[in-house]
Amino acid sequence: TCVLGRVLRVQGLVSRVLGDNGRLYACATRQLLKQLATNLRHVVAAGDLVWVRPEGPTPEEGLPQEGIIERVEPRHGVLSRTSRNRQHLIATNIDLIVVVASVAEPRLKPNLVDRYLVTAEKTGLRPIVCLNKVDLVEPADLVPIIGVWSQLGYEVLPVSADTGFGLDRLRDRLRGKETAFTGQSGVGKSSLLNAIQPGLALRVQTVSSESEKGRHTTTTAVLYPLGEDLGGGFLVDTPGIRSFELWDVIPEEVAGYFRELRPYVSKCRFPDCTHTHEDDCAVKYAVADGWIDARRYESYVQIRSGE
Ligand code: GDP
Ligand code: ZN
Repeated sequence: TCVLGRVLRVQGLVSRVLGDNGRLYACATRQLLKQLATNLRHVVAAGDLVWVRPEGPTPEEGLPQEGIIERVEPRHGVLSRTSRNRQHLIATNIDLIVVVASVAEPRLKPNLVDRYLVTAEKTGLRPIVCLNKVDLVEPADLVPIIGVWSQLGYEVLPVSADTGFGLDRLRDRLRGKETAFTGQSGVGKSSLLNAIQPGLALRVQTVSSESEKGRHTTTTAVLYPLGEDLGGGFLVDTPGIRSFELWDVIPEEVAGYFRELRPYVSKCRFPDCTHTHEDDCAVKYAVADGWIDARRYESYVQIRSGE
């Protein structure tokens, strides 16, 4: 009988799978599956929900059971990269991207958060903006900045890894989900991971620095199971997600990834308008009239100009 499980990582021909029964499996993939997935370099990717047929003898304590992956469940939330017309899966079934920023030390850089949001829009994954270190500022100072993103439909969570403020809400969002954390270094990602689950940051760091030495840096994703209290959720780590360099957005696409620009883009007189320097531009009129937040527009111009 088969066991349903989650692929934690793929190393060469072997997939590490965590079964629903809590056991670890080291799996090969059924040959037939490989032939079906003609357009994919990897038939199985980190994050996949798979059916495993256990094989061979019962292993010694602490070692994974061998198995064969018989079937891959349909995917959602796929991070992939296309090269030479082939889709390379990086991670699948991602539910959430947590964009971490700090409100002080280092100071908040809203334009950088906008960049992460643009990339999230491109991947189609749901982002949450997590503003850390709120213990360092007056709560009232946060209202305007949270307001702009919230009105656009992005969830903003003010938290403090130090005082524990907002961490229950963050844990709620992670419960039973597969989540990727991203954000500039120094904003407190490691502190947050440890606050969520003691020791988690260290595990993530160890394996990441290990894999960074390897050749396939940008394609290796690893899932870390979260504890029972977090409902069997996972943290997904890929060097690509941390730096967000993989999903470079081409200039013509940028406006489409700013939710509030979209309705005005279609009203522009010139189909090739860049909405930056042109005089007669519906987007710029909307900024002047206050329909589009001026700071968000400034982010748009920066990203569009490749700055
Ligand atoms: P990372 O590079 O994003 O993983 O950031 P770290 O977790 O290493 O944190 C960077 C620095 O910010 C460390 O000195 C932390 O102690 C500090 N820090 C993290 N979270 C908070 C917080 O909520 N409040 C304050 N005041 N400092 C924090
Ligand atoms: Zn325009």
